Parts: sequence; structure tokens; C-alpha cells
Amino acid sequence: MLLIDLARTSAAVAADSARLAKIRHLAELLGRVGPDEAEIAIAYLSGELPQRQIGVGFRSLRDLPEPRQVATATLTQIDALLDRIKSQSGAGSQAARRDLLAELFGAVTRQEQSFLVRLLTGELRQGALDGVMIEALAKAAEVPSAEVRRALTLRGWLPAVGAAALRGGVGELRDFHLEVGRPVAPMLAQSAPSVTAALEKIGGPAAVEWKFDGVRVQAHRKGEDVSVFTRTLDDITAQVPELVEAVLALPENDLVLDGEVLALRPDGRPEPFQVTSGRVASKTDVSSLRASVPLSVFFFDALRVGGADLLDLPAAERHVALRTALPAGLVAPRIVTAEPEEGEEFFADAVRRGHEGVVVKSPLTPYAAGRRGAGWIKVKPRHTLDLVVLAAEWGSGRRRGWLSNLHLGALDPETGTFVMLGKTFKGLTDELLTWQTEQFLRLAQGPADDWVVHLKPELVVEIAFDGVQRSSRYPGGMALRFARVLRYRPDKRAEEADTVSAVRALMP
Ligand code: AMP
Repeated sequence: MLLIDLARTSAAVAADSARLAKIRHLAELLGRVGPDEAEIAIAYLSGELPQRQIGVGFRSLRDLPEPRQVATATLTQIDALLDRIKSQSGAGSQAARRDLLAELFGAVTRQEQSFLVRLLTGELRQGALDGVMIEALAKAAEVPSAEVRRALTLRGWLPAVGAAALRGGVGELRDFHLEVGRPVAPMLAQSAPSVTAALEKIGGPAAVEWKFDGVRVQAHRKGEDVSVFTRTLDDITAQVPELVEAVLALPENDLVLDGEVLALRPDGRPEPFQVTSGRVASKTDVSSLRASVPLSVFFFDALRVGGADLLDLPAAERHVALRTALPAGLVAPRIVTAEPEEGEEFFADAVRRGHEGVVVKSPLTPYAAGRRGAGWIKVKPRHTLDLVVLAAEWGSGRRRGWLSNLHLGALDPETGTFVMLGKTFKGLTDELLTWQTEQFLRLAQGPADDWVVHLKPELVVEIAFDGVQRSSRYPGGMALRFARVLRYRPDKRAEEADTVSAVRALMP
């Protein structure tokens, strides 16, 4: 295939703003590319080089040679030249690179020159194009895009996955396997307001499992080698020796497990999230931290056991493999039920024990790596409090001219004053912003500031939030997590607001 074909397609994709049209342009080209050049074409059109880096800076691309009049350069030729540029090293390599670059740009037309400059400077690389490219590959290879995505989560490099799809369709995509030691994007959860709603969504019996407020971990073991990765695929093996030991103590030695680590108190209740996350993040003094803040691990899924990949099996079968490979103490507590009442009771009990809520899981779905699959539905208690607005900050950007960020306080009944618990600007519609700005200016008191307006504490607002955490930032020593406005309560007086002790009772 000629480079000019790619340059033209790239221009057509950029010119058409409709997603379907972009997909069509790309699929048309990908349908024509030969097997030897597919990886190169997919890489270039995604704005990447198969060589990744070739050691050429911006400055080398300024003075380009005269372009050719007729386009003859093939993808294979361009790729070979880029290989040669990359392989230059040692004394004289700068000059050699410059000569090869001149050769490269002298071999192509003006339109190709401009395409290559954008490719080499990274200008073609746009994240938004990834989804379009996946769809285009699926269309050209006549495979479901879910198959391309699945292989991509396992292989991590679209050109290799795409070339396989074009070459061998679904059959070849299915040949991508989990590799022990290479992390897979973890499956994510959707959410529902209650266990009853979650069970209804799944329809039929489902697992209801404790939801821990810890740090997601993916543990890989091959022989005596263990690696542990976070949700963002960072390697934290050295920070979690307890987990490494627990995995090494298992009889199975070819494993990939998904779970959560958290710090528990001696009485078995979970520590606040910051304690766990601080411990996991610390890279120094791990052995002494291990004594003061020991970590526990609970696994809830198995992606590989005994050398067999389980990703495509129904969740119930993966769970059987998990229970068979692990002692009960390492498996997240759960029940399987179709009864809303039983599920709600299990949820209430999990929350009473200090956990974040539950995750309701369908027994039928495969492991949806990297996606918010419909198979996992999280349910957390929705806490609400009626708090008093103590001050507000002027908004910026789109919210300029509106008083936006609210300072929220709970009542201290002993002194009749209000204790600040946090701020929020979430959940406010334009209508509410307009209304509250008017009200706040009427209630303004104290020193005027061009940033914060202090208010007479009169207005009560109903706030939803995910939990209460310890905080040294506010005078009460605690702060709300993920606070957002539900509605104003003009029917309530400030003296009727929730009290500091009610909030303290929600501390984990
Ligand atoms: P969220 O971060 O609120 O979207 O909730 C999803 C996260 O909950 C996952 O990424 C896990 O870190 C965590 N989690 C805790 N317990 C479980 C569980 N039993 N099953 C799945 N995820 C869990």
C-alpha cells in the first residue's frame, strides 16, 4: 500500500466530523491493506509508530527537502527507513539520522510530507480516535467490536490486535491470552440505589458481596514469582508484602486473582480509607508500617487458575475456581439470592460492619475487563444531611458571576454555632445557582472579600454524600466525602439542621 493512500484517508477522517463517516473512511482503507502492512497502517492511522520512538526531534523536521511530484513510497519502504533511523547510535549518529530523514522526506510528495510530520511530532495521536479505530477495524474484519476490545485489553497494542483481526477474524482474536505478569484492566461496576433495584436489573439469583473501601489489587503468580498491580495497573508488589505472602502460600502456582486490600483494626472493622491508601502508597519503611498498619486481602474474582484462563467463563464458574483455589478467609463474603429482603439484610449488615456497601453480581457474565459491565452493580447507602450554608465562593469559568462553592456546617447544639464539614459545588443547576446567588447576597455579612462571601447561617440545604472521614482541615476533625447538593430546605430553620454528633456517629 502507498503512503499517499493513508495520507488521503487521514485527511478525509479529519475533514468529516461525523463519527460514522470517519469509521467508514478508515474501514474502507483497512479492508484493502495487505497482511504484511496492516500493523503499519493501523499504527500510522492511530498516530503511532511501530518503532514507538525513533529519536528524532522537532527541529530536525523544519527544513524539508523538495517533495516529489508523484507518490510511489510504500508503507514497507517508509517503515524500513524509520527502522534505520532508529537503529543509528554512537558517534556520527546525529548526522546519519539527518541524512536518512532527508532521504525519507525527499522520497514523498508534499501531502505525504505533511502527514509524516504530523505522525512524527505526535500531532496525529488523538485519544478520541481509538474508539473510532476499533469500530473501523471491526467493520473491515467483519468481527464484533467487543471481540476487538477484549483482545485489546489482553494485548494492550491495537496495531497487533487489529492486524490479527484482519488476518484471521474472531478465531485469531481469540488466540490472545492472559499473560501472567502483564496486568489486565480491571472490570468496573455500574451502580443502583438499592439491592432490590440491583437484583431487578440482573433478574434472577445474584451474588451479593461486601464492598470494601480499600485498594483494588490484581495479583499474578507464576511459580514463586508474584506481582501485584493496582486499578491503574501500577506495580505495587514491594508495598504489599502481606499480600505477596498470602498468594505464595496457596497451593496453586499459576494464578491471576482480582480483589481488594484494606487495613483492618484489631476488632476486625475496616480502618478509614485514607489509612489503607496511605499504607499502600508508602514505599519506605514497609516493614515497620506492616507492624502498625497490617493489610488484609479479600479476593472476589479469578481470571486464571491452574494455568487456565477463566475470563470468558460465567462469573459463577469463576467463583467456584476461586473458592477451590483459596481458603475461605481470603474470599470476599457473599450470599447468592434472588430475594430482595435477604439481599437488603445482607447489605445492612455489611454497612453495620463498617463496609462501604455491597456489589451485586450476575452469575452469568464473563469478566468485562476495563469496562463497567452490566454484571456488577454496586450499592452504597445514600447518606443525606441537612446542613447550613456558612459561606460561598464566587464561581469561575462558566460559573463566573454566580456564587457557587458552598461551605457547609452542622449544628453544635451546645454553643448554637455551626461547625464546617466541607465544601461542594456539585449538583447545582443553573436555576439553583441563580436562586442561591440572590439569597446569599441578601444574607451576606462580615468582611467582604472578592473570593468568599460569608453568610448569616440561615439557609438549610440537603446534601447527599458517600461517607464521613477524618480530616485535619476542618475544625470538627471530620469531612464529608463526595458531598453534593440535593435541594434547598427553606422549610427548615438553621436550628433544625443536623448536629455535629449525628455526623460523628457516621464516622467509620
Ligand atoms: P467504585 O470505585 O465506587 O466505582 O466501586 C468499584 C470498586 O469497588 C472496585 O474497583 C473495587 O476496588 C471496589 N470493590 C470493593 N469490594 C468489591 C467487590 N466485592 N467486588 C468488586 N469490587 C469491589
